[in-house]
Amino acid sequence: MSDHIMNTYGRLPISFVKGEGCYLYDDKGQRYLDALTGIAVCGLGHSHPAVAQAISKQANTLMHTSNLYGIPNQEKLADILCQLSSMDRVFFSNSGAEANEAAIKIARRYGHTSNVFKHKIELPTIIVANKSFHGRTLSTLSATGNSKVQVGFEPLVPGFIHVNYNDMDAIKKVAQNNNDIVAIMIEPIQGEGGLATPEKHYLQAIREFCDSHNYLMILDEIQTGIARTGKWFAGQHSDIVPDVMTLAKGLGNGFPIGACLAKGVAAEILVPGTHGSTFGGSPLACAAALATIETIQKGKLTQHAAELGDYFQQGFQSALADLIAQGKILDIRGRGLMVGIELDRPCTDLVKKALDKHLLINVTADSVIRLLPALITDKTQADEIIAIVSALINKHVNS
Ligand SMILES: *Cc1c(COP(=O)(O)O)cnc(C)c1O
Repeated sequence: MSDHIMNTYGRLPISFVKGEGCYLYDDKGQRYLDALTGIAVCGLGHSHPAVAQAISKQANTLMHTSNLYGIPNQEKLADILCQLSSMDRVFFSNSGAEANEAAIKIARRYGHTSNVFKHKIELPTIIVANKSFHGRTLSTLSATGNSKVQVGFEPLVPGFIHVNYNDMDAIKKVAQNNNDIVAIMIEPIQGEGGLATPEKHYLQAIREFCDSHNYLMILDEIQTGIARTGKWFAGQHSDIVPDVMTLAKGLGNGFPIGACLAKGVAAEILVPGTHGSTFGGSPLACAAALATIETIQKGKLTQHAAELGDYFQQGFQSALADLIAQGKILDIRGRGLMVGIELDRPCTDLVKKALDKHLLINVTADSVIRLLPALITDKTQADEIIAIVSALINKHVNS
């Protein structure tokens, strides 16, 4: 590998040069089944023809103008996203971290400009969760609840207070002791933090708490959004609509695009001169996202993700029943095609061992196997993933 790449990733010794559906091919022509899809990015699988054609057609027509002008694809995409999510307005970015930057800026400016608070907010503060992940820019790494992401980059951006996920009392306590809270920012499932899922009513309780305190509820759906969990957005499982919602990963099926959606007062906070992006929402990026959404709709892939997600859960429950009984598997969780298997011991080695079996998986939080297969995965492929992963786990915990 080249010495000219900055050493920010511990990379596996493999390079893929081609992709088709749920499969990737390395430079020797070997085929691999992808149960990670670029970390929840390629929901339609690799090189989906509808997305490739949309990009090619748009590239041959018009790639970039500027947000100084109207962009028809951007308007169309914003209309569709708002219709799917019940939100009002969208700001387009090029990545998840940038979408969260926009969300954080909305929350801060809301604190400074809104007259709903009885006192003047000096240091608008956002409640965030431990073990969360919100990105690698300075404000998003400061919001992130993981010291590994933060160490070495101090001073952190102030204005974030961390509480444990699923702990409503902790939120109430922070609110009682701090007059500058303006928002609560949370992932509907913690993607990087070990796939913690919300307990029943947790997200509704946050919604109600935000309503009664005039806080903005910010949902980071960057990993969970775009049909991944069996609904368009994971917050919909809890029947809630946030004030601000961020998207990225699955939105362009591999073409970089992020979005910060907002509703009601939150949608009116950013005005000319307060935020911007040269590349955000280009005709090209929006063409990719439009094709992605249309293909998910046509293929009824939201429903498929829900059904196949249940199939994965049941499949792993039965394949791993003995290890669950022995306490070697602590939990199998997730929702839709976000599947987490928590072992009683570290298991990062399994990523390499799965690769040897021509299967791409991921391990997060040291001991949680994370699967993020394509929305187009079929049952035969699901069976193969369940068989390989279960065999690897068995070997790992019994050796
Ligand atoms: C990946 C991710 C981000 C950051 O997105 P980038 O595009 O890498 O900046 C933020 N939040 C969540 C929940 C993510 O999974």
